[in-house]
Amino acid sequence: MRVLADVKLTMRILVVEDDETLGRAMAQSLTHGGYATDLVGNVADALHALSVENFDAIVLDLGLPDRDGYEVVRNLRRRGLSLPVLILTARDAVEDRVQGLDLGADDYVVKPIAMAELQARLRALIRRSSGASSPSCRIGLLELDTLGKRAYLEGQPLDLSAREWGVLEYLATHSRRIVSKEQLIQALTAWDQELSANAIEAYVHRVRGKIEGSGAIIRTVRGLGYMLEEPDGTR
Ligand code: CA
Repeated sequence: MRVLADVKLTMRILVVEDDETLGRAMAQSLTHGGYATDLVGNVADALHALSVENFDAIVLDLGLPDRDGYEVVRNLRRRGLSLPVLILTARDAVEDRVQGLDLGADDYVVKPIAMAELQARLRALIRRSSGASSPSCRIGLLELDTLGKRAYLEGQPLDLSAREWGVLEYLATHSRRIVSKEQLIQALTAWDQELSANAIEAYVHRVRGKIEGSGAIIRTVRGLGYMLEEPDGTR
């Protein structure tokens, strides 16, 4: 997609590592490398972070205190999220690598790892994943990259949380149709989370603000839900 190539994005990386010293060292190294980096120390926090933010890649330790790190990969792939996962682990048994790759991890690095190698591997993964052709949909001046899970307004990336993206994507793929709050709740809570109708209203409100000027509008259909539409003459 042409607009993607012209836009310089800050890549956001989620580091999941319970060893605090190592986690901090990786986060620091990645931050110096120009990435926005978030560090969490267990599976529950990783899943939460992934539900509220968009990340470009994950560096994932397998031995985590609450659950097996593989659970993060399983969860992502179940939700159809394709962001690259770099597994980082002390386990170097062949079966572990095979299991990780089978589950949809993209690369595998055995500890101890040099920070330069970590960066190089991540760069390669991100390049590979963003080089894939991205299906996109366009409404007014708004462009949705449904593979990369990003939206652009006149080529500029919109700063959307994962939930806000979810609202926009669902409405866009059902444009000119009425979408109920219940449908949005179901679309946004594919797994173990709950969401109230009030929360949906808040997300819609925020998305509405962020797509202002795009020509696409989210209309409230009283008592029924919402409809994303592109008024005539804006294309
Ligand atoms: Ca660990």
